[in-house]
Amino acid sequence: MAQQPEREETAAVQHYAIAPEWFPAHQRDFPATVQSRMCPSCQARLGTEVEERVPSSDAAGRVVFESRRVRYGADPVAVVAEHCATQPAYRNVRLPLMEIIFRLLLANRNRPMTVEEITQQVMEWVRPGDGRIITPLVIERLLQADDFYGIRPVEEPRSMRLVS
Ligand SMILES: [Zn+2]
Repeated sequence: MAQQPEREETAAVQHYAIAPEWFPAHQRDFPATVQSRMCPSCQARLGTEVEERVPSSDAAGRVVFESRRVRYGADPVAVVAEHCATQPAYRNVRLPLMEIIFRLLLANRNRPMTVEEITQQVMEWVRPGDGRIITPLVIERLLQADDFYGIRPVEEPRSMRLVS
């Protein structure tokens, strides 16, 4: 990685992320929406029991790993980020821009992203010569007009929080 440029604009930079709470308020189902972006093999495994190792602490406060049986896909964002987003079919270059943005956020575990970051990653996603106009202004307008993907401005961007 190259050196990180000093950021002056910290708190002022608007970040966007998918707001799961937006979905039930708009008669939509967040887990089902994410699951429909999963690859066929993950969709086939949905709901089957799998063993998962989860960290917890023992009586002495040490971190130990416990095995726990969970339903596959219980955390659909994690499944997409860890598996489906790495499959070639996920990165379909012909998808509408908002679908690409939604998939990008999932692939990044729904980490809040700036318009600049999203624009950059959309441009990396589509083919050169795609023909669509992809600028931060266009992306920002799409995000602000979104009433389908639950992508909302994040009030307090986690990635920008200052450690004091
Ligand atoms: Zn998958």
